Amino acid sequence: MSATPITVAYGDGIGPEIMEASLRVLRAAGAGLDIETIEIGERVYHRGNSAGIGPEAWDSLRSTRVFYKAPITTPQGGGFKSLNVTVRKTLGLFANVRPCAALSPFVPTRHPGMDVVIVRENEEDLYAGIEHRQTQDVYQCLKLITRPGCERIVRYAFEYARANGRRKVSCFTKDNIMKLTDGLFHKVFDAIGAEYPEIEQEHWIVDIGAARLADTPEIFDVIVMPNLYGDILSDVAAEIAGSVGLGASANIGEHVAMFEAIHGSAPMIAGQNIANPSGLLLSGVMMLVHIGQTAVAERVHNAWLATIEDGVRTADITGPDAGDTVTTAGFADAVIARLGRRPTRLKPVNYAGATPMRVPTVAPRVAADKRIVGMDLFVEWADGGAEELAARLQPIAGHRFALQMITNRGVKVWPGGLPETFTTDHWRCRFMADGTVTHAELAGLVQRAAASGLDFIKTENLCTFDGAPGYSLGQGQ
Ligand code: NAD
Repeated sequence: MSATPITVAYGDGIGPEIMEASLRVLRAAGAGLDIETIEIGERVYHRGNSAGIGPEAWDSLRSTRVFYKAPITTPQGGGFKSLNVTVRKTLGLFANVRPCAALSPFVPTRHPGMDVVIVRENEEDLYAGIEHRQTQDVYQCLKLITRPGCERIVRYAFEYARANGRRKVSCFTKDNIMKLTDGLFHKVFDAIGAEYPEIEQEHWIVDIGAARLADTPEIFDVIVMPNLYGDILSDVAAEIAGSVGLGASANIGEHVAMFEAIHGSAPMIAGQNIANPSGLLLSGVMMLVHIGQTAVAERVHNAWLATIEDGVRTADITGPDAGDTVTTAGFADAVIARLGRRPTRLKPVNYAGATPMRVPTVAPRVAADKRIVGMDLFVEWADGGAEELAARLQPIAGHRFALQMITNRGVKVWPGGLPETFTTDHWRCRFMADGTVTHAELAGLVQRAAASGLDFIKTENLCTFDGAPGYSLGQGQ
């Protein structure tokens, strides 16, 4: 078999031990890998590179397009950015795929029938990392959800389900509250879902969906979610399936894919040869499927299942009948000794015929008729209540705008606010126009606000798209 070029990072903490063990198994199974090693993480951070990754590493990733990565340590404080988020976003790795299946009775779990795959959107949502302190009291993080982002991840989830013989795709959002952002994710789920009629589909509000996932994970199959919910719930799912130490993940993009364990660098147990290499090894299996070495992937995965079934375990996997434990290297030896074997009680995997997943493209943008119909002016104000602020604002409205409402933390406080409502120094003041207005007219409103001495923080244009409002109502409006 010809060797496939891949980039490998040994990482920090337990990274080098588990990468060494995993690569030993993959090689023994006959994987054809032409490895370029890069240095990322702690040592790079401490050389003064706040991103933790240098130009040669980017060059390698852009040339091999396949990244097998051990966990790295993000130094606390000091303005160091998370390398994972940087790599995912820079390389456009939009889909984070985490299979979470129980291995009962060999790995203790309360959910022996669990077999869930979480497909998490990986680039958007609150992870845009756009935050501002706006007033003395108020801080903001922008939640960005895009149409192409939703389309790609939702289509990927359905394609994954189809390619892997999965029966159902569930979508978790909070669109009862975030009607525009999570609402878009849900709408795209419904629209794209219609193209996959053979796959059952359902939507859950994330809070009750999360509760059911933690309590009755057997009812779920593939779950697709925006970034933050997916980040949290994929760890929950991995933990209740058995252990985060067993969790593998693929980060898929149009150009590059990255494969890593879901756990971190576990510095407390580094260098002791006791870490469980399973999460990284199973990520390696996902990588082999991705690069088309499916027979090797199947050989490794089935040998690993046979190893687990034989009761071979590292110290992190405990249970009532936990016998002796093996070292990291000892676990790799045990898997190598079982290459060619299939599990007899756990379900063997079968990757024959598995083809690398097609990365979905997005539909071309259909331009909507966009009209500006007003402006939200955000103001820092601590010199009184909503009535006093309204009295300051009304004279600046001019002849095209009228002050329609004022909200504080999203709830309407003018007109007709209640004295019980707690208010901060951060007010959203909505000016509606008497029709379509121009940017120059918006700028005129801002200039009048400045001339009146108001401390405005920011503005948001209020637009309609094909007549539909592109802004939410105030709570209580
Ligand atoms: P962690 O996942 O490293 O450890 C959590 C707990 O799980 C610890 O008790 C650890 O000993 C145990 N554990 C984790 N992996 C194990 C394994 N393979 N075998 C046995 N036990 C294992 O999480 P943390 O302590 O919050 O983070 C440590 C460092 O890892 C931090 O610097 C964090 O930023 C980083 N981190 C990196 C990644 C990544 O590179 N993908 C992911 C998460 C955290």
